[in-house]
Formats: sequence, structure tokens, C-alpha cells
Amino acid sequence: MKILIVATFNPHKIEEIKAILPGLPFELKSLAGLAGAVPAPEDGETFEANAHIKAAAAAAFSGCLALADDSGLEVDALGGAPGVRSARYAGEGCSYADNNARLLQELAEVPDGKRSARFICVAALVRPGGASVLKRGVLEGVITRAPRGSGGFGYDPLFEVRGTGLTLAEMSSPGKNQLSHRGAALRAMRPEL
Ligand code: IMP
Repeated sequence: MKILIVATFNPHKIEEIKAILPGLPFELKSLAGLAGAVPAPEDGETFEANAHIKAAAAAAFSGCLALADDSGLEVDALGGAPGVRSARYAGEGCSYADNNARLLQELAEVPDGKRSARFICVAALVRPGGASVLKRGVLEGVITRAPRGSGGFGYDPLFEVRGTGLTLAEMSSPGKNQLSHRGAALRAMRPEL
């Protein structure tokens, strides 16, 4: 079976991709299984740039087809922040809890009705010769006033999905995958795979 390198060191991401895209005609391998692989610098100013940086570096290093994704949260009342800085919103090395605390603090004075936000994910597929395809998935919602739910990760407990009354952390993992920005971006990539 042909190999698809997933440009991550996180084994959970491989399982997530398999759940969202069952039956892919590839053996999926993370960078963790490739001796000498190092994380690519995610210094782009857009999700597209960062997804491409990661997939292109993995394709060049491995000589195989490579898939990467880059995602984050855009809050309208914050002019689109935290955006590409979602992972380190509360500072280098911060925890998900630190990021959530900062987000609630920044939005403390923002009334209901002005707390709209969206999760964005861009998937990038890069062939060893350099040709690339990008696909974007978006999930609309609002930022709650307190965390709700125990599932998921990151900002999930603060993100109520538009039209559901539920935060992402109150959904099952298959339920989240059906709606999520990452699910949408990866499913849009399936014809390329
Ligand atoms: P990554 O590019 O997928 O590593 O995501 C970057 C950061 O965005 C994560 O560390 C989270 O803070 C946030 N994020 C991305 N996707 C999600 C999600 O589905 N739920 C909650 N937070 C997310």
C-alpha cells in the first residue's frame, strides 16, 4: 500500500484522520516514525501558509505524498484573534486552560449577540514534486460565558456551535467530526486522495 505522511508528531491526529476519512487507499504514517524528522516552523500569517509549510516540509523530507492541517479560532469582537496564534494565545508554553481563561477575560465586556466566532481548518496535500492542493473548512458559533462539557480539547468548552445549543465539548467525538472545520476540510480533500 502507498504511504501518506501526515505532517504531525501527534499520534491522535492519525486516528482522527482515519475516523474522518475511513478507507483511504494509503498507509498513514506520522513524522514521529521517520528518523531525523523535525517540526517545521509554523511562522506563516495564514492557516493556508502554515498548512502548506508543514505539508511541503514533510513531502520534501520523506519523498512521499504528505498531508497537513492547520487550524484555529477567529473571534469577531477581537478582530479575528487569536487566529493563527490560537495554540499560544496566553503565551509560549501555555495550557488550553490558560488560553480559555484569556479568551473569557478578553470578552468579559462583550454582550451576547456580539460573541460570534468561527473555527477554521486548512488541509494541505503536497506531492513530492511540490504540487499542492489546499482545502478550507469552517464551523460557525459563539463564545459562551463559561466552559461547558468535558469532551474534545482546546477551546471546545467555550465554543457553542451555531444552531445546536451545544458546545463542541458537549458533543461526542463522531458528532464533532461530522460538523467540525477539520472534518469539512479533510472531507473536501478526499477526491484528491
Ligand atoms: P492545530 O493547528 O490543529 O494544532 O490547532 C491550533 C490550535 O487551535 C489548537 O492548539 C487549539 O487551541 C485551537 N483549535 C484548533 N482546532 C480546535 C478544535 O477543534 N477545538 C478546539 N480548539 C481547536
